[in-house]
Amino acid sequence: MIDSERHRRITVLGSTGSIGVNTLDVIEQLGGRERYDIMAVTGNGNIELLAEQARRTGARLAVTADESQYSALKSALSGSGVDVAAGTSGLDEAADMDAGWVMAAIVGTAGLAPTLRAAARGADIALANKECLVSAGALFVDAVRQAGGRLIPVDSEHSAIFQCLDNDQRHALERIVLTASGGPFRTHTREQMANVTVQTARSHPNWSMGLKISVGSASMFNKALEMIEAKYLFDVRPDQIEVIVHPQSIIHSMVGYADGSVIAQLGVPDMRTAIGYALTYPKRCTLNVDRLDFAKLARLDFEAPDETRFPAIRLARTALERGGLQGAILNAAEETAFDAFVEERIGFLDMADVVERVMDDMTDFGEASVIADIFAADHEARRRAVGFIANS
Ligand code: NDP
Repeated sequence: MIDSERHRRITVLGSTGSIGVNTLDVIEQLGGRERYDIMAVTGNGNIELLAEQARRTGARLAVTADESQYSALKSALSGSGVDVAAGTSGLDEAADMDAGWVMAAIVGTAGLAPTLRAAARGADIALANKECLVSAGALFVDAVRQAGGRLIPVDSEHSAIFQCLDNDQRHALERIVLTASGGPFRTHTREQMANVTVQTARSHPNWSMGLKISVGSASMFNKALEMIEAKYLFDVRPDQIEVIVHPQSIIHSMVGYADGSVIAQLGVPDMRTAIGYALTYPKRCTLNVDRLDFAKLARLDFEAPDETRFPAIRLARTALERGGLQGAILNAAEETAFDAFVEERIGFLDMADVVERVMDDMTDFGEASVIADIFAADHEARRRAVGFIANS
């Protein structure tokens, strides 16, 4: 059952991450405990922050995905009145809490099962976890719609498109244009990129984000995931999805119509704007974020993405053209390659090689008809990626 006053009850999956912390900040700015009941907050390893968030927000339930941290969380919350749970069953419990609005901000495929569970009981899903759509695509969208919830994008690019799209004029929609900052290696040669460290790869020029998405911005795999995310969110053809490098990250994305008009959404790079929009949609809220100062904005630059230096964009197009389970396969292979890069078992450029090999190796995996097909393809892609990495 969803509470009648839409969005009064909230659950934040992944509250201890970059998006989670920003979400709690927005909730606080918009009235905090006076206006919202926090049903559940979840994290993984950061028990201190999770316990502090649960106490501060008055959450009913705090969950760590890491079962070995259960006792630590339990003792950190003793006497608080907050229920504590852990592991997969704990995440299920959080997803099942009676919240009308659920922020999906767990990183990676780990977010898919609890988000699907919240969607299946009809909650509105504020979607930061793009992996849900990259892996489960139409099945995920159907799960949300069939249960009667709304799917509201949080990724800044997709929030921008969501804000620019005129659904009454869908027949005239020509293209969507995703902007990309180009990351810290925008001007690097492939030779320079071959030897970069995790530390340099995670230092995004404009946005402050979690490790996975920061490295994904450097390799442009984040943009690759976003291209696939856009297909399912906005029901567009692959040839309607464009990517343009825009180093200042001021234009968050654009929509082009058949009359030649292009509608863009602009703002300072601050995720709280997209989070606030997802929370109060279709209304706008007042937020304490920096305002754009056009007089100080010297210039806005654009350049075509270089698919030789950043093969992730080409691989996303391949996945989109092949369709079926290729999104899930790309995503699982990329997560496995990312782990290997962070653990210094492979180099930065090897990530794309691993993903391409796994995708090419699994072209006989067709369509998914049930969610179990997604998990099976994900599992197999990881297994093959591990094999390629071990032999590289
Ligand atoms: P972070 O790494 O900062 O946070 C991830 C969250 O997931 C944390 O709460 C973390 O817990 C939790 N977590 C980690 N591993 C697991 C697991 N195995 N099971 C359950 N929970 C887990 O990520 P971000 O906030 O940067 O990103 C979250 C999602 O939002 C990603 O899908 C990302 O692509 C997307 N996104 C992020 C943006 C950003 O600006 N950061 C922008 C747009 C989209 P703990 O910290 O306690 O270990």
